[in-house]
Amino acid sequence: MAEENKDNNNQNNPKSNNPFSKITGPGGKKPKFSFYWIYGILALVFIGINFLNTGSEAKKTDWKYLKQMLLEKQVQKLVLVNKEVAEIYLTSDALKMEKYKNLKSSSNTFGQKTPQFYYNVASPDIFIQQVQDVQKGNDNPIYVESETRHNWGGEILSWVLPILLLFGLWFFIMRMMSRGGGGAGGQIFSIGKSKAKIYDKNTSVNITFKDVAGLEEAKVEVIEVVDFLKSPDKYTKLGGKIPKGVLLVGPPGTGKTLLAKSVAGEAHVPFFSLSGSDFVEMFVGVGASRVRDLFKQAKEKAPSIIFIDEIDAIGRARGKNPMTGSNDERENTLNQLLTEMDGFVPNSGVIILAATNRADILDKALLRAGRFDRQIFVELPDLDARRQIFKVHMRPLKLNKNIDIEFLARQTPGFSGADIANVCNESALIAARKTHKSISRQDFMDAIDRIIGGLEKKNKIISSKEKQVVAHHEAGHATVSWLLEYANPLVKVTIVPRGKSLGAAWYLPEERQITTTAQMFDEMCAALGGRAAEEVIFGEISTGALNDLEKVTKQAYAMVAYYGLSDRIGNLSYYDSSGQQEFSFGKPFSEKTNEIIDEEISKLVEKAYKRAKEILSEHRDGLKALANRLLEKEVIFSDDLEDIFGKRLWG
Ligand code: ADP
Ligand code: ZN
Repeated sequence: MAEENKDNNNQNNPKSNNPFSKITGPGGKKPKFSFYWIYGILALVFIGINFLNTGSEAKKTDWKYLKQMLLEKQVQKLVLVNKEVAEIYLTSDALKMEKYKNLKSSSNTFGQKTPQFYYNVASPDIFIQQVQDVQKGNDNPIYVESETRHNWGGEILSWVLPILLLFGLWFFIMRMMSRGGGGAGGQIFSIGKSKAKIYDKNTSVNITFKDVAGLEEAKVEVIEVVDFLKSPDKYTKLGGKIPKGVLLVGPPGTGKTLLAKSVAGEAHVPFFSLSGSDFVEMFVGVGASRVRDLFKQAKEKAPSIIFIDEIDAIGRARGKNPMTGSNDERENTLNQLLTEMDGFVPNSGVIILAATNRADILDKALLRAGRFDRQIFVELPDLDARRQIFKVHMRPLKLNKNIDIEFLARQTPGFSGADIANVCNESALIAARKTHKSISRQDFMDAIDRIIGGLEKKNKIISSKEKQVVAHHEAGHATVSWLLEYANPLVKVTIVPRGKSLGAAWYLPEERQITTTAQMFDEMCAALGGRAAEEVIFGEISTGALNDLEKVTKQAYAMVAYYGLSDRIGNLSYYDSSGQQEFSFGKPFSEKTNEIIDEEISKLVEKAYKRAKEILSEHRDGLKALANRLLEKEVIFSDDLEDIFGKRLWG
């Protein structure tokens, strides 16, 4: 194995950042075309032409002097060039005269004599006549010779220069394009090439299923894909067809890319990885050509895996955007993708994995049998999965003995795998900052807080009055959620400012799939508890509840318009899972319904607010005690609530 690696390394340099170097393979270096050559060529042409033109050093003269010369018989020859210029050649006798001493009687590079003077002729006929008139009575007059000369240099220049300029411009544009396309400077034609990163034997994927924690159901499905790739015979013998595409659906950071990579790692096949947006370019046809190129490469390396992340960038349902008519370029790309998926023979050994967090907006044609006919759902990890993800990411960390993975998993509801990986990394950084020898439980807690709320801002200046308000606000949330059966039990409350917020309360959401009306209502009450506490204690409300109000409004809207939980709207849902509505200006309901929805929302929120206020007025003393404790300790936990309000009735 080591031997094999070495061989390959000699051919393709795996360290090169340029993905194409691996694909173009051991072809050796092509002579690089440099744009600066063009400048060089142009400069040479100019210099050459100047050389050709400097043949003669004739002086300009006028008719008066020429007449004189003719009268004194000093002229040997008169040549009218191109009916424009008269060249004057002096006789050898004349050249010996004193007044012509400084004139160089010379011959040019080709041994021809050069004229000593020239004269710009206005009208050739008159000029010839004049010359003859002047020499009247002369027995040996000079006749004007006519000659047509081509200025080859100049003429060629006037032809070649624009062409050269055009070429120069063209190369320049191509170069810009290819640079934008990520190609190297020399590869001016690489714009239509796929931008996939390829991991093959050289840059092998060494991620295996061991590195993917949780996701048990997804793994089972994916193991089958690995099996297809490893021993296709087993399936084809029975006449089965290997699936072409598998779609991984789930929120960001849940390990979709990781899962795809682990498939490649387990099956030991080349892995082409790219994102849907890599296909999209402003030039028409580029996307389609990249798709073609990608499939060509993958087929050459079959069995192989293509992984397209964020496939919704190209796979969005077609022709549903009334704003722009439709996005033709994206459609072309999608069509090409569909064609390629249909085009390859079943069992050709190329499997396409794609990831998205919005399967609902994908074009139905993509999900048809024979394309992405398998969908694997990758969910946010539950408690047990979180524990396992912590284990995976703690492997390289130097931990204190008192680390309780179970506890950490409990503290991180709603975290994705990526968040947990982040917590582990952050805890190591925090421990290093405090120059600890190993990572302690507190470092992990700090890391979790930091990931939830941003950096602690211990020195943010808050007036004591503001602190009072914040403490009562947070205590309000805590109190209401403690006293309501269905609200999420509280884990921790703090009034240490963090990021933009001045305080925060953490809850432990129950992990449930279905929520009842009562549960939703209790949650709304808890969310409004902050503002209610401000009103109960101080008799006025502040702007500090923006977040809470936003959350509550959305919740109420969802209850009324989506979940059919309001009596007046009834069992209707205006939710649109196909994503079409995003593009339409109108609402799917009438003005009248709109009004009813608005009324219902406002009624619901008012009811929740009233309830929160009632609870807090009733437990005013407890609320105050809690706020004071918060002011004193800055951070309080469920134990403190238990101290004040007694044990929670509902666990
Ligand atoms: P996605 O593609 O779903 O957005 P990624 O696969 O890129 O998410 O996950 C980002 C990172 O999060 C991974 O590199 C890995 O470190 C971590 N991660 C996510 N899910 C898991 C998991 N189930 N097990 C282990 N690590 C995970
Ligand atoms: Zn609040």
